[in-house]
Amino acid sequence: MPTDMPKVVTRFAPSPTGFLHIGGARTALYNWLFAHHHGGDFLLRIEDTDRKRSTAEAIDAIITGMKWLGLNWSGDAVSQFAQAERHREVANALLASGNAYYCYASQEETAEARDNARAEGKPFRGDLWRDRDPSEAPDGVQPVVRVKMPRDGETTIVDAVQGSVTVSNSELDDMVILRSDGTPTYMLSVVVDDHDMGVTHVIRGDDHLNNAFRQYQIYHMMGWDIPTFAHIPLIHGPDGKKLSKRHGALGVDAYEDMGFLPEAMRNYLLRLGWSHGDDEIITTKQAIEWFTLDNVGRAPARFDFDKLDFVNAHYMKECEDSTLFALIKENIEHAIGKPIDDTEQGKVVQAMPSIKERAKRIGDLIEPTSLFCNIRPLEISEKAKKQITEETKPILASLKDQLSDLPSWIGSDIKATIMSFAEAEDLKLGKVMQPVRAAVTGGKQSGDLVETLEILGKDETISRLSDVC
Ligand code: GLU
Repeated sequence: MPTDMPKVVTRFAPSPTGFLHIGGARTALYNWLFAHHHGGDFLLRIEDTDRKRSTAEAIDAIITGMKWLGLNWSGDAVSQFAQAERHREVANALLASGNAYYCYASQEETAEARDNARAEGKPFRGDLWRDRDPSEAPDGVQPVVRVKMPRDGETTIVDAVQGSVTVSNSELDDMVILRSDGTPTYMLSVVVDDHDMGVTHVIRGDDHLNNAFRQYQIYHMMGWDIPTFAHIPLIHGPDGKKLSKRHGALGVDAYEDMGFLPEAMRNYLLRLGWSHGDDEIITTKQAIEWFTLDNVGRAPARFDFDKLDFVNAHYMKECEDSTLFALIKENIEHAIGKPIDDTEQGKVVQAMPSIKERAKRIGDLIEPTSLFCNIRPLEISEKAKKQITEETKPILASLKDQLSDLPSWIGSDIKATIMSFAEAEDLKLGKVMQPVRAAVTGGKQSGDLVETLEILGKDETISRLSDVC
């Protein structure tokens, strides 16, 4: 990057009207990566100008979600509402320069003009008072302030994702920038804030592309530098339709609850609309190194839980065993109905490497790990009970005696004992292993049997076998 280029500043600007949904999280991630890639700043602005729809819970959910995803921002989160005075100041400057005007039309008149325009197949311009003198204003009407959009020519935005996009200025309406109660609208606030915060790149969902043309005019009228726009295609469901709750249009907290790791979410969201060759697993470090807007796709990405599971399974394997344990400690305690002690914890962490090998989500770890806690007498499932019969009980009893005699409790010795026992009894290995597994696991999900016995320990194994025979 040439050194004379201004420092890159990006921002995520959610409206706090609900949870931090998956599309917003991806927008935040792209802004975060872009800023980090260029050694710039990533800012967070809460667009809380719509007082009726903004809630403190939604702000909390956004902040918690961002922190969970590991998307830290520079400085404090900025409240858009808190800048309202500054937004009014800019509206007044636009009035003073003749780029904005007071509009005294009533809501009914405006609605009628909109209906008429629609009926005639023309764009609605909202310009009823554009050429009228305020001296004609009816008494007692508090006006709104509208921007005087250019009528001729075209506006072209060279979007970093969509390419060059042009609209005819005749399509731009004289949008309201101050309501009749003097409160600024989003269309004004977003421009003023982005300018004041020094935002160089506006990366957001392509549902805002239409707004960009009108926002562009405000920058132009104020003589401000226009940021680079990058409008990223929205996320669709696997069927190509708009993302619904059923598809995964949920809050980030729901993904945490479903058992996804933040690093997996980052990787998955990155790939959902951006690519680096055929790479699927991309660490955050690589992502920062590689992320540019050139590789953002132009077609809507399709959300796919199978792929997310695949990515999550990878990161679970990479994750420290103790970290995974910390994530499921409470669930294990809930499952075993008591606090977990140090010995149990040791066994759980020891068992983790092979358990996480087969897991897709954090929740998959709970049953196979809680097995290593002292939960006797074990609840035996109906299916497992079928393995513990009058025929197999004597087998279990004899094997138990042989295992009890083992001088050291290591996997290879346990295995050798079971195998020689089966051979001596002329039994297929499965005929011995299945009832043993049923007795020590009660039919719960479990991994390699010998490893399970080894980690469970001699005393616990012998006790569990004794409980059933
Ligand atoms: N507050 C807007 C939203 O949540 C985003 C505005 C922007 O990124 O410019 O959709």
